[in-house]
Amino acid sequence: MTDMITIDGSQGEGGGQMLRSSMALAVVTGTPVRLEKIRAGRAKPGLMRQHLTSVRAAAEVCDGELIGAEPGAQELTFHPGAVRPGDYHFSVGSAGSAMLVLQTALPPLLTASGPSTVVVEGGTHNQWAPPFDFLLKSYLPLINRMGPEVTARIERHGFYPAGGGRVVVDIQPAPFLNGFDLTSTGRVLNHRLIALVGNLPTEIGDREIARAVRKLNWRKEDGEVRGVRTNGPGNVLMAEIECEHVTAVFTTFGRQGTRAEHVADNLVKSIRGWQKTTAPVEEYLADQILLPLGLSAAQPADCGVRCGGTYLTGPLSQHTLTHIDILQRFLDISIVVNQRQGGQCELTVGSTSSG
Ligand code: AMP
Repeated sequence: MTDMITIDGSQGEGGGQMLRSSMALAVVTGTPVRLEKIRAGRAKPGLMRQHLTSVRAAAEVCDGELIGAEPGAQELTFHPGAVRPGDYHFSVGSAGSAMLVLQTALPPLLTASGPSTVVVEGGTHNQWAPPFDFLLKSYLPLINRMGPEVTARIERHGFYPAGGGRVVVDIQPAPFLNGFDLTSTGRVLNHRLIALVGNLPTEIGDREIARAVRKLNWRKEDGEVRGVRTNGPGNVLMAEIECEHVTAVFTTFGRQGTRAEHVADNLVKSIRGWQKTTAPVEEYLADQILLPLGLSAAQPADCGVRCGGTYLTGPLSQHTLTHIDILQRFLDISIVVNQRQGGQCELTVGSTSSG
């Protein structure tokens, strides 16, 4: 039997990602895990609804045994079972991010023995979480480059605090995950601004787009205001920069008391920060693609596909640094970070056995 791994949630970034990644890796590798001091680094530590849903999702996709996973719990033990493809439905039951639930449910199903459909309900565009558009345009194209065919559609938008969003993800698995390199952005093919406005005057979106196109020197036609039906008010401004090798998605949230122009300025600031690094992978994608690339690197060398790969990003976030540690606890891989000039970091994810 594989030895249990203990993860101290107070180490490193100290948030939910350690918990979600540990659960996903436990399922894929069949390794029991004990999580202690869960989210000790956060103002409200322990399992909140979104985390509980994520943890239960991991257990459900493999019929695993969860001990101690209760609201507010700061410790749990998990004995994974064998991954079962199928139809799943996970509801956060609050405005917590439904997208984050996919971080535990999706990785094991990518290489399962058959197709799956996963429906997630909750928030679709939350602060401090990947918004649906990031999943669709930035993350999933890279997953699909690795072999699986994953499609996602949004049936209802869900904003904080009302929630009520719904996303359907269809997964055609692949036997192995093909690694890749992502070391250049390539030509910019297209760029777009999207302002989502739910239950609020669309004039908010008009002002955001007007300000952002002016500052970015884009055309007015590059911006689109989408009025969406939601359970409660919400406003998100996003930019998609489609390049030859990757699509970067940037997001900012409108808030009561914050001027639309200020929301646009924040978005422009994140875009400029990424452009300044001249690296293809922006901060959030950098921490999220580590897991599939790590799984790819951990595959047997004779599996017939490329294992692992290299990518270039800007300065590493705490999330990425913590993720590097977690992945190396579960997988027999090495992650080498090379600092380059101008603040760029090159990450090479490879098998320890191939040197
Ligand atoms: P945690 O804070 O530990 O719960 O993890 C949050 C997760 O959400 C990380 O995987 C981040 O990369 C991701 N995330 C946060 N903000 C964004 C964003 N604006 N776009 C894409 N992903 C995000």
